[in-house]
Amino acid sequence: MNVALVGAGPGDPGLITVAGLERLRRAEVVVYDALANPVLLDEAPETAERIDVGKRARAHKLTQDQTNDLLVAKAREGRFVVRLKGGDPYLFGRGAEEAAHLARNGLTCEVIPGVTAGIAAPAYAGIPVTHRKLASTVTFVTGHEDPTKPDTAVDYPALAQLIAAGGTVCFYMGVGRLPLICGQLADHGLAASTPAAVVQWGTLPRQQAARGTLGDLPARAEAARIGAPAIIVVGPAAGIREPGLDFFTARPLFGQTVLVTRTRHQASQLHAELADRGAEVLEAPTIDLAPPDAWDAVDAALRDIGRYDWLILTSANGVEALAERLDALGLDARHLAGVAVAAIGDATADALSRRVGVRADLVPTRSVAESLSAALIARQDMAGQRVLLLRADLARPALPEQLTEAGARVDDLTSYQTRPARALPPAVLDALRDRRVDWVTFTSASTARNLVELLGEERSLLEGVKIASIGPITSEAVAGLGLPVAVEAPTADVRALAEAVAAYGETAI
Ligand code: SAH
Repeated sequence: MNVALVGAGPGDPGLITVAGLERLRRAEVVVYDALANPVLLDEAPETAERIDVGKRARAHKLTQDQTNDLLVAKAREGRFVVRLKGGDPYLFGRGAEEAAHLARNGLTCEVIPGVTAGIAAPAYAGIPVTHRKLASTVTFVTGHEDPTKPDTAVDYPALAQLIAAGGTVCFYMGVGRLPLICGQLADHGLAASTPAAVVQWGTLPRQQAARGTLGDLPARAEAARIGAPAIIVVGPAAGIREPGLDFFTARPLFGQTVLVTRTRHQASQLHAELADRGAEVLEAPTIDLAPPDAWDAVDAALRDIGRYDWLILTSANGVEALAERLDALGLDARHLAGVAVAAIGDATADALSRRVGVRADLVPTRSVAESLSAALIARQDMAGQRVLLLRADLARPALPEQLTEAGARVDDLTSYQTRPARALPPAVLDALRDRRVDWVTFTSASTARNLVELLGEERSLLEGVKIASIGPITSEAVAGLGLPVAVEAPTADVRALAEAVAAYGETAI
């Protein structure tokens, strides 16, 4: 196959099909539209060429003919091309023209259907487009054509009849003509009280909907400032309000924007936990991770691990470094058989069992260094014990100090370096300047300090943004920066942090 026309789904990246994702993961060229969620591009191999043919509102948007030719040219280079299109590739997507053009040029093309916005956007707004009692037909219509022009291909009298008979009609590309569309349907005999709704950015965290009737929907949509891209739904089904159907917007953090400050490597789990609860998540990496300047010391210690009684890991990053070095040295979990392992925090212990296949012998109840040294000292006499500590370059001295005081011999080695990021991503700065950010999460003292540093003179942008902290040490650092902490996670892991943010939302409403 030379080309796959793949439906990206309506917005939520989870709504691409398994077949579509499989094609994307082996794409050599990805040609994508404005409405395909850019997050999906991360699924393509890093080496794949990515071509945007749909930059909205920019002059250099390609015409359909240019897009067709581009697909042919790229496929002729012998590379597998994925043509990623929003929703379903055919439904108001001109996919058929692209497939035909490829075939005319002797190229093979397969079509992977997608979840279309006309079904998904209403569904995520609590509207099923058919319903055993209320709607037996559903019709997809382009709202792009001016309904008042005599040569319109859309038969408004017929649509009005379908709706009067209890059908649902979904208009695509019509929000700019919402008053005209509602007016036409009323002119052709529908009551002003006919249920109608409009859903913008359906299935995405920024989804917005207005619900009402043919008579009042235009005013409601304007009041809610609803614009493109949106689906207009008309018919009895658009009036359904049943508990349970509103699953998407009922999530505790729906409508809230949360800024996640973490290292690039770590952001994804917290991001997922918050997104699951409905938040729009922005990532502000404030720390970049780098390997140590040299591996000699770590490698030597690992090779000779038999010298140590304890190996201590304080973060999932430390575990990652351990896993990579063991691998580089041609070693595996068996090599650690003779050493006891301690981990700070459940996330670290999880990473240890997942990445290295080793279960931690000791995980202190509180996820701070002091709690680990206290637990070790309570467990055994540390005098003469040899301890290998693998952690970040800028870690606090408390842990080695306390263990040394208790008589242990500690090798405190750097297995990764943390460096402050150089700048905030433009999207994050824009969101802060537009006052669109409701929360910022800090998962370590350094993420807090670094964010404030990165903001520099614009530090006041944090005023009014609620702060969530992962634990007492981080909270202390935040307070030290003169910022108030709104919530602190009861246990130091990202799930507890996301839950604390969500719970705050619940009590505040
Ligand atoms: N092939 C696409 C439709 C392309 S036409 C599909 O099957 O969904 C573009 C129109 O689709 C937009 O004007 C809007 O009406 C609709 N649309 C696409 N994504 C949408 C979304 N996330 N929410 C609401 N409408 C959307």
